[in-house]
Amino acid sequence: MSRAEPLHLRARWIVPVGGPAIEDGWLRIEHGRIVAIGRHAPPGPPGETAITDLGDSIILPGLVNAHTHLEFSDLERPLDADGGLPGWIARVVALRRARPTGDAAEARLVAALRMGLGESLSHGVTTIGEIATAVPRGGYPSIGPRVRVYREALGLSFGGRGVPGVVARDLDRLGDSAGISPHAPMTVSSALGRALLREAARRDLPVTMHLAESLAELAYVTGGGGPFRDLFSTLGAWPADRSPPVLPPSDWISRLARVRRGSVVHGTFLGEPPDATALDRLARHRNRLGVVVCPRTTRLLSGRLPPVRQFLAAGVRVAIGTDSRASNPDLSVLGEARELVGAGVVSPGEALRMMTSDAAWNVAHEVRAGSIAVGRPADLVVLAPSGQFTDPLDAILRADTRVVATLRAGRVLHGRLAGG
Ligand SMILES: [Zn+2]
Repeated sequence: MSRAEPLHLRARWIVPVGGPAIEDGWLRIEHGRIVAIGRHAPPGPPGETAITDLGDSIILPGLVNAHTHLEFSDLERPLDADGGLPGWIARVVALRRARPTGDAAEARLVAALRMGLGESLSHGVTTIGEIATAVPRGGYPSIGPRVRVYREALGLSFGGRGVPGVVARDLDRLGDSAGISPHAPMTVSSALGRALLREAARRDLPVTMHLAESLAELAYVTGGGGPFRDLFSTLGAWPADRSPPVLPPSDWISRLARVRRGSVVHGTFLGEPPDATALDRLARHRNRLGVVVCPRTTRLLSGRLPPVRQFLAAGVRVAIGTDSRASNPDLSVLGEARELVGAGVVSPGEALRMMTSDAAWNVAHEVRAGSIAVGRPADLVVLAPSGQFTDPLDAILRADTRVVATLRAGRVLHGRLAGG
């Protein structure tokens, strides 16, 4: 992938994220990396490498979708949200149980992953934080985006010491791109969580976990009752002899903070009783733990937007994710950012960091992704606002702004290099 031809790109704006926006900017790409950036005419003998003039376009770092589940990318529309998170999870389980098994399951999974990766490129996404319940024998399809694959695990009856064998096998298949994800407080026993986090520390892998996504989750992990108990009993996932030992989000945060990098997904109710200290604890560990919000999913399943201002006030790095097509109509992080900016929750500049540099940090890819700088891989997205604009940050988030090209390591993987 790094054998791309040298490229000289010029655009009305280059927004590097790590520094101020450059008007009438250019950048040079060699061997898939950015080797020079500047303003106005680039230096060097004329004609050395033809300049591709992208007109009124804006060049950004390739966007980062910090949380999704690509296995659902073949769904045409989100599942019904009736009954909030417990009702929605019951539908996800029914969907999974109706799927094919054996080789047909593997073929379906690979096809769905390819659809999700392709759709991500069409939205300007070049780096993904992905949750996997299974990993194909050949690993993830390498059709473009860089993928951090967090192998998810869950179980309330786990009694072993090491991680389950299928999890270890998948981590071996993933190699450097692996991460680990205990699913959520109400589905992961304390013992399984300990085994997973010990494995993450042993392999030096980042972790991520859904936490404080609903009030039903908090009720269940602090008292053992409510809709989740009913759901797990119905599904036959409730251990017959005893209440499973589960932990509240604040305890999980302390455990997650023992590995080198982690992210909390959603965190919608972290600051609320009966576990209200969880947000303070997250803030204490902000050098290791960030948070990923999925605004449209949270609105659908919890009826509100994520408490992003509280996270930012606590100094926590916030990333944007789309969650999956089981709860969201598409995999566009720009769509998620527009939701927050449109509601007045964050500024365009804050939203930009949430889908680039801070999202890259959350998935432990900050040295490769999330900003434009000399020496970095040329992972870029070219946006074309329609009509007049003066402020590039405002223009990025306009609903009629199009993705005209997505590049990974200097190669055009979606669209084409053309003026906006
Ligand atoms: Zn999720």
